[in-house]
Amino acid sequence: MKFLILSFLFFIFSVPSFGFVVLIDPGHGGKELGAVSTIYLKDRNGKKIKKKVYEKDLTLTLAKKIKQKLEKHFSTYLTRSFDRTVSLEKRAELADTVKADLFISIHFNSSSSHKFHGFETYYLDNHDDKAIKKVEAIENIGMEGENKIINHILIDLVIKQTVGRSKKLANSIHDTVGQKMQKRFRLRDRGVKPGLFYVLALSKRPGVLVEAGFMSNPKEIFKIRSKAYLDAYAESIAQGVVKYYGTLPPKEIPLF
Ligand SMILES: [Zn+2]
Repeated sequence: MKFLILSFLFFIFSVPSFGFVVLIDPGHGGKELGAVSTIYLKDRNGKKIKKKVYEKDLTLTLAKKIKQKLEKHFSTYLTRSFDRTVSLEKRAELADTVKADLFISIHFNSSSSHKFHGFETYYLDNHDDKAIKKVEAIENIGMEGENKIINHILIDLVIKQTVGRSKKLANSIHDTVGQKMQKRFRLRDRGVKPGLFYVLALSKRPGVLVEAGFMSNPKEIFKIRSKAYLDAYAESIAQGVVKYYGTLPPKEIPLF
C-alpha cells in the first residue's frame, strides 16, 4: 500500500502538466526601480568601489530562474523578460492573456531600519496590520493614471474566490523556503501574511507575493545577490508550486 501511495505521489510530481499555467511577475522594472541598496565591493587592487543594487534587477534574475525550473512541469510565463516599465494593470491583464492558473509576484523587502531581515510570503486578504500596510504602500506603486483606488467590491469578490487557494500556495512556498534555506543562509522566518496588493487583486487568480529578503539589511543584501541564494530561492518556490499542484482536487487539474 505504501509503495502504491509513493508511486502515485511520484506520478503526480513528475508528470508535466502543460495545461496548468503559471505566470511569474518580476516586481518593478524600467523607471520603477523598487528598493535601492548601496553596497561597497573591493576591486582587484583592494580598492573600495561603490555599487547600487536595484530591486528591479534582482526580481528579474530570480523570476527567470524560477521560470527555468517550473517550465519542466507547467506552462510558465513572465510578465516582463527584460528591464522595462510595466504597469500593475498590464501585469494583471497578462494573467487573462495567458490564461494563468497562478500568479506569483517576486519582490525584495526594504525598511528604513537596517535591522530588519528575513523572508515573508503574502497572499491577498484583508487585514489591519500597520507594518503590512507599509509593505503594501511600496509594492502598490506602479498603477496607471487615475485608477489608484480599486473598487473594494471587486477586491472582496476576488478575495472570496481565491483566498483559500492563495493561502495554501503561500504556505507551500513559504514552508519549502524555510526547510531548504533557513538554516543554510541563517534566515529569519517572518511568516505567511495577508496583504492587499493591487497586482494580486487585479490578476483575479490565486497567487502570492514573495518578499525574498531585506535589501536594506547590510548583511542580507550580500546573501540576496549571491547566485547560491537566488538558485536556492528559485528551487524552493518551484518545489512549493509543484507540491501545491499535487494537492489540487482532480477537477481543478486541467487535462489538456
Ligand atoms: Zn518590490
